[in-house]
Amino acid sequence: MKVDLHMHTSASDGTDDPKTLIELAKALGFDAVAITDHDTLKGVKSAIEAGRRLGVTVIPGIELSTGDDVEIHMLGYGVGEGGALHGQIAALRAQRDQRMVRMVEALNRNHINVTMDQVLKEADGGSLGRPHLARALLKKGYVRSVKEAFTRYLTPGKAGYIKREKLTLIRAIQLIAEDGGIPVLAHPGMIEMDPQHLSGCVDRWREAGLRGIEVYHPGHTDAQCANYLRLAREKGLLVTGGSDYHGAVKAIEPGAGLHRWRGMERDFTELYTQIR
Ligand code: AMP
Ligand code: ZN
Ligand code: FE
Ligand code: FE
Repeated sequence: MKVDLHMHTSASDGTDDPKTLIELAKALGFDAVAITDHDTLKGVKSAIEAGRRLGVTVIPGIELSTGDDVEIHMLGYGVGEGGALHGQIAALRAQRDQRMVRMVEALNRNHINVTMDQVLKEADGGSLGRPHLARALLKKGYVRSVKEAFTRYLTPGKAGYIKREKLTLIRAIQLIAEDGGIPVLAHPGMIEMDPQHLSGCVDRWREAGLRGIEVYHPGHTDAQCANYLRLAREKGLLVTGGSDYHGAVKAIEPGAGLHRWRGMERDFTELYTQIR
């Protein structure tokens, strides 16, 4: 069995539209994938339709950005389009739009001539983020890569950076759970936190409704995978894995980093049976 439970589409900052992504997954031999766009469920419907047609199981998912000083991502599996989550997504999206207008204005004040229209063109109607602005700057020749756009303009302290309003982690867990979804901590290796502190946090998050940990991710070392696997087992949490595929923008292929996921079939089945 071959699965990938963390994939982005053009509904957020990926480059493949949902249908194309599922076709790619099919061609690569995946049995099941989860669509986990940032703060939106927009890509889910067409991905599920494509999955039905092609015989790929598509798990509806989302990746919520949370945190105050450290940004922590929360995955939600099996979420629907109803209830509190839906309302919160609409609010997050409005905040993202307003923030983008302000980032463009800030760059304009610094004589970087980029327009909202150019950014929107990169976004394909999806949830607006810094990657879209970075691509617009690249197209205009202000930078030679997306990465350079971030380091020169779009990170804290730089001319085009504006902080984004974020959900608290506990609220994100609750929203996913209230929606009938399964909250899973995304790529813990990206959180700068010592293992003991993380273990304590996981206890609190689990009380709030956390159900799993994304143990396998291409950004994790083998040692991190082993540690997070142990942590998940110790806390009685589900084990998941995903490549965080974004399409052409990042040198990450579907399934990247997941060869290390020995219990893939068993862990996936356990998650799948808990999705309504
Ligand atoms: P936003 O949600 O608008 O703050 O943008 C966050 C997204 O930008 C992340 O999901 C990453 O995909 C991307 N990102 C953040 N930092 C960098 C960086 N230094 N280089 C390239 N992409 C980045
Ligand atoms: Zn992303
Ligand atoms: Fe993430
Ligand atoms: Fe992601």
